[in-house]
Amino acid sequence: MTDRQPASSAKHCPPEIAVAVVDAETPGNVGTIARAMKNFGLSELLLVNPPELDPDGEAYGFAGQARTDILPNATELSLDELAEGYHTVACTAVPNEDPNNHIRYPAMEVGELADHLDGVTEPTAIVFGRERVGLTNEELAQLDALCSIPASETYPSLNLGQAATITLYELRELTVNSTQHPNALHRRAPKGEVERLHDQFAAYVDAVGHPEPKREKATRMFRRLLGRAHPTPRETSTLHGLLRRGTQWADGSHPAEDSSNESEREN
Ligand code: SAH
Repeated sequence: MTDRQPASSAKHCPPEIAVAVVDAETPGNVGTIARAMKNFGLSELLLVNPPELDPDGEAYGFAGQARTDILPNATELSLDELAEGYHTVACTAVPNEDPNNHIRYPAMEVGELADHLDGVTEPTAIVFGRERVGLTNEELAQLDALCSIPASETYPSLNLGQAATITLYELRELTVNSTQHPNALHRRAPKGEVERLHDQFAAYVDAVGHPEPKREKATRMFRRLLGRAHPTPRETSTLHGLLRRGTQWADGSHPAEDSSNESEREN
């Protein structure tokens, strides 16, 4: 572990977001957190009274690619140093509802955290507590803001590593410059192509002799179906080609073997 570096050495442009773990017992959880940090574009790991992190042990085993940088570069510090040097957001499973007792009140929901931190330029740390008892009231009293992941009322306490993973995922818009996803995972067919498909469906319904009173209902149902599905260009053209072929068969106008260019394009 390195000595404490000035927070400005962290690579992240504002807000600089560090992750702090107070008094973790299980090295595997620290490794899981380091990995989640790397997944979501954070790099500064702060450890208050950490367990021993053996390079051949669980922490390094669980850290994935973070074993080469985030974990060995983690900074050990005291809770006082953490509270003094950072804007701190404490994650707790148990916020309270009493506006007269501010130790665990008010807590934001984790989904609000990115908005809360957007534009904050001071060094910031998201703080997680020990596995069994979390952060104590004394510790919470020293930290600036509270955040909680909504979970079952009867068992709201998540595993430490998983709680950190969810929290860091929620911060991704502030911390991840670009994801592995292409710009659009689902490209929708242009409106004109979808309308062509609707026209072809109507022709098909006529051609197969669907009872006259039911035709309007069938075409409306198809419109609702495509409206929910947002078909891709390929799906739209394939369906169009099939319906056109079905319409031709029903009309008796189908070509014996349709190997036209258009058919290839559509299928
Ligand atoms: N009973 C403990 C649970 C400890 S779990 C408590 O009261 O917090 C270990 C750590 O995971 C907690 O200190 C907290 O930082 C985080 N955590 C677990 N569940 C969470 C939740 N629902 N919301 C926010 N943080 C949570």
